Amino acid sequence: MSLEFAASEALRHIALDEGIKSYVLQHPPMYQTLLQAATRFIGGETLVQCVDTAKSLNQQGFAVTIDFMGESTRDAVMAEQATQEFLNVVQAIATHKLDASVSLDLSHIGMVIDAELGYDNACTLAEAARQNDLEVMISMEGTDRTDLILHIHQRLCERFDNIGMTLQAYLYRTPDDLERVLERPGKIRLVKGAYEATQTLARSRGADLDLAYHQLMQILLRRGHLCSIATHDLSLLKDAHNFIQEHKLDKEKIEFEMLKGVTPERLKTMSEDGYRTRVYLPYGREWHLYLCNRLAEYPPNLYQAIVDVVKVAH
Ligand SMILES: Cc1cc2nc3c(=O)[nH]c(=O)nc-3n(C[C@H](O)[C@H](O)[C@H](O)COP(=O)(O)OP(=O)(O)OC[C@H]3O[C@@H](n4cnc5c(N)ncnc54)[C@H](O)[C@@H]3O)c2cc1C
Repeated sequence: MSLEFAASEALRHIALDEGIKSYVLQHPPMYQTLLQAATRFIGGETLVQCVDTAKSLNQQGFAVTIDFMGESTRDAVMAEQATQEFLNVVQAIATHKLDASVSLDLSHIGMVIDAELGYDNACTLAEAARQNDLEVMISMEGTDRTDLILHIHQRLCERFDNIGMTLQAYLYRTPDDLERVLERPGKIRLVKGAYEATQTLARSRGADLDLAYHQLMQILLRRGHLCSIATHDLSLLKDAHNFIQEHKLDKEKIEFEMLKGVTPERLKTMSEDGYRTRVYLPYGREWHLYLCNRLAEYPPNLYQAIVDVVKVAH
């Protein structure tokens, strides 16, 4: 096992360790230190800070999608609080006239407590977003939740046309899911897939996954459905650009989306090439898992994290 791979595995392990997370949250010096590394990837700790970050990104020509960080809420009261915070996000986007959508995990607003609670809370948000002419993007979570998330998305699409869905190229089932989701309104966001999954269900990172992404991306682009090509992979970005040029596709229906702090220069290039571009902008205090995932998926980021932390210490 290479050292880089081992570091990546260790970080994924740390990401999921509730004990480490609560230690970080309860120890201000530790929290503040690691926050310096997280800041690169998040919009801030509060909605007010996030709105400022969103304004700045909008001024640079990027749309944003705002996510109040959190997932797997186990308590109905906390699910209601999270839903209320997302309603605040909708309100803030409208008040500040941001070029923004809302992104969320259904498990954050109650889906794992009770599917109906998740659905009801999602309806409340979808309605508020619709009244403000905004889009809500649903993230895709671990493989034990794929069916339920797609089912809730289907039910939402029976009532709303402003609800997008994320699909993960690493799952062997995704070509079938894509056909079904193409029948629904709402943007389709294509990602490689970030959660651990068994080999029977998902491909690991590598050429096979890149080929699967490439094929799904071509189907998505060719079908003319509203879509988001959500990857930082330079070779896939070039493929997408060439495919769009070659087939003279309508750029209005296509956007390129990347995570805040990850390869911003690539998003800028896509913007300069005339594409609509969007930055995924999470905010809140629950950045522990998010930071570890960003470091794990690209271990050289560890060096950057050390620089970010020490810069402040001096
Ligand atoms: C907008 C958006 C929404 C997402 N939503 C979901 C979701 O709902 N569910 C889900 O499972 N996953 C989601 N993801 C994460 C996704 O699945 C991947 O884990 C993540 O995007 C990295 O994959 P990649 O396509 O960039 O390819 P990779 O093969 O991981 O990376 C390709 C190249 O991009 C660069 N790169 C990638 N990551 C980093 C990094 N952290 N730091 C620096 N450079 C990097 C490197 O140059 C790397 O070689 C989302 C990603 C985006 C952009």
